[in-house]
Parts: sequence; C-alpha cells; structure tokens
Amino acid sequence: MKKIIIAIDGHSSCGKSTMAKDLAREVGYIYVDSGAMYRAVTLWALRQNYFNGNEINTEALEKDMPGISITFRLNDETRLPETYLNDENVEKEIRSLEVSSHVSPIATLPFVREALTRWQQQLGAEKGIVMDGRDIGTAVFPEAELKIFVTASAEVRAQRRYDELKAKGMEASYEDILQNVKERDYIDSHRAMNPLRQADDAIVLDNSELTIAEQKQWLLDKFHATIQHS
Ligand code: C5P
Repeated sequence: MKKIIIAIDGHSSCGKSTMAKDLAREVGYIYVDSGAMYRAVTLWALRQNYFNGNEINTEALEKDMPGISITFRLNDETRLPETYLNDENVEKEIRSLEVSSHVSPIATLPFVREALTRWQQQLGAEKGIVMDGRDIGTAVFPEAELKIFVTASAEVRAQRRYDELKAKGMEASYEDILQNVKERDYIDSHRAMNPLRQADDAIVLDNSELTIAEQKQWLLDKFHATIQHS
C-alpha cells in the first residue's frame, strides 16, 4: 500500500504526541517527536551552562551543533521510542520543567532549526512516518499528504501536562505549568523562522472536549480517507 507522510502540528501539551504515537502504532508507521529534538538540544545547552539569564551563548552552541547526535530507540518493554542524546537515554530528563522553560528560546535559533529540520526530512525520506511538532506541515514536510493542526484551551493543556508529570512521579505545580504553556505558545507563534501556524491545507482539531479514544478514532478515519484518495 502507498505510504504517506502525516504531519501533526499544534500548541504545547495538546496531546499531539499521544495521537501521533497511537496512529503510528496502529498503521505500522514510524513515529518521530520533533519536540524531543529541540528539548535534547536544550538539555545539552543547559548542561554546558550556555544560559545566562535570558542570554544564550549561541556562538558556542552553534559550534557544538555538528557534534550533537539525537536519535530514537524503541524501549524493549514499552515498545515506545525514547530519545538519545549522543547515545545517552535522556527521555525523562528532557520532559522536566527546566527543559520546558528553556526550549522555546532555543527553538528560535535559525542554526538549530536548520540542523533539526534537515535531520527530520531525512527521517521521513521513505515516507510511512507520523511526525509531530510546530512546523511539520508548513516547513519540514509542506508536501505531507495529511496535515492536522491540534489545539485546546491553555487550561486544559496545563492540566493534562500536570497529570502526566504527576503520573510519572515528577514534581509539578499547575500554575507554573500554565504559565509555561502560555509563554511557549507566545514564543512559538511569534518567532521569525518557521513560527507555529496552521498550514492552509491542515485539518483543525480542537480536542478540549474529546477523550483520547475519540481523538484516536477521528485521526484513524482521516488517515483512511487520505489513503483512499492518494
Ligand atoms: O512538542 P514539545 O512541547 O515537546 O516541544 C517543545 C518545544 O520545542 C516547543 O515549545 C517549541 O518551542 C519547540 N518545537 C519547535 N518546532 C517543532 C517542535 C518543537 O519549535 N517542530
């Protein structure tokens, strides 16, 4: 059967990755979490002490970029992909609030976006991929056969992220998370290079009122409709 590219973009913490992962598993496609790549570069920059208040040592980070390798490997038990930074499993660390609060400024840097976009395009060269992020349907794969733009209210998204962190046994404050969600929305939508925006040919899904099972079915229906017509 013909393979396609599925681009799932949208605001922070709106459940894109859950939908994307479920669909990929269901239809046997590769799943790539592009946000994890921006988070891994951010973790690198934090570890190297490249942040000084609002300033980032961009010169040093740009020099390091060619040596930063970000890959995904399936966890044998959960069968879910996990993020590796230079061969170290950083899946848990990149989800911390510290990384979340530093990632959007890193994602505004053109040399970071160029490097990660190139890598994402290579991962999708054979199609049969579901990728989620902010600019997948607009910049990484503008020719993707199926594009979804997901959104939900900031409060609903903050609550979901809070529940997720708590379930993983991580410390979390709802107020801090809500503020972080709003800040990231603002920075992601206003940056100069490839800002978060809905592609003209994307289908919009507001999932504030949907259960995970309902979203899953909605996406599967869109997938089958697209496959039939392409
Ligand atoms: O999807 P997630 O919330 O993990 O993404 C973390 C951050 O990475 C986003 O807030 C955004 O700043 C950045 N990002 C991006 N472009 C993408 C994916 C993520 O700028 N394609």
